Amino acid sequence: MENYDVTIVGAGPAGLTAGIYASRSGLRTLLLERAVPGGKVQITERIENYPGFAAGIDGPALISQIKAQAERFGVDIRRANVTGLQPDGGGFRLKAGGEDIAARTVVIATGTGPRPLGVPGEARLEGRGVSYCAVCDADIFRGRDIAVVGGGDSAIKEALYLARYARSVRVIHRRGELRAARVLQERAFATPNLSFVWQTVVAEVTGSDWVDGVVVRNVASGDLDRLPVEGLVVFAGNRPHSRLVENLVDLDHLGFIITDEDMGTRTPGLFAAGDVRRKSLRDIVTAVADGALAALNAQRHIMRQKHTLAS
Ligand code: NAP
Repeated sequence: MENYDVTIVGAGPAGLTAGIYASRSGLRTLLLERAVPGGKVQITERIENYPGFAAGIDGPALISQIKAQAERFGVDIRRANVTGLQPDGGGFRLKAGGEDIAARTVVIATGTGPRPLGVPGEARLEGRGVSYCAVCDADIFRGRDIAVVGGGDSAIKEALYLARYARSVRVIHRRGELRAARVLQERAFATPNLSFVWQTVVAEVTGSDWVDGVVVRNVASGDLDRLPVEGLVVFAGNRPHSRLVENLVDLDHLGFIITDEDMGTRTPGLFAAGDVRRKSLRDIVTAVADGALAALNAQRHIMRQKHTLAS
């Protein structure tokens, strides 16, 4: 069985940065990712608020730099789905792609996935007009009238992106004001083919083979209406990928992992970093900071264990 000092699960900015710090401190480091490295940044067109890039940087370009940096310091990055994790003899044993891997410490950096609305028609029409990724599906919506759900940074940023492709974009938001950053709001209000449907939620997505409309409900009046759109792109928040460790950590009511300020969980040697943690700002800048702290404290944990064994 292969044996690592640190095994990191998830290769977004948090996991890759944990890899850079762990490997650079001389720890044998494995990074497992079930899809393409990069997480949500990989499908973000432009990053404007990550320090060091005055003109902004494309998400894939930023990720490829962070990944190259991790590889330069010797992180072993592999594509594998981790399906099991349990404490084992002072460390951990992971099941990944049919293999067993031993690790003295583990960093969970599995991020989040889109939270569906859970309305009739949504799941049935996913991939047939219902989408959770603007960059992936923008071309499909070229020249069409579409709707975006949500009022956070993701919804407004991606609605602006989609407005370059679609004929019109209607942002359906359940409240009368947005929570997105002011700069994004100002751009959205100034975009001619982008409009807002306030205080409104989606009640149903309709269509047989492809989305042909959404039934919406005004939350103040209760009135129902139908918007004839050919696409619905949902950015109604995210849910954490924390199931793998749910028995080993404390979770908040939404399923985010609760850590201490050193990224430690209630299981010694098991750390969490990035969007999967309970935190007040989920962003690249906090993800990379989490990754660095998780790696540092994984190293300290290993040193403490060695010290205990030696004395
Ligand atoms: P978010 O901030 O949680 O926003 C989710 C939006 O969906 C909110 O407007 C929320 O409405 C709405 N919503 C939630 N449940 C809904 C439902 N059932 N039906 C209709 N609407 C619903 O999520 P996010 O925009 O994905 O952002 C996640 C984190 O990443 C945030 O911290 C954000 O700042 C960060 N982020 C940063 C950038 C950047 O460029 N810096 C880009 C993307 C994301 P309410 O407002 O009424 O709650």
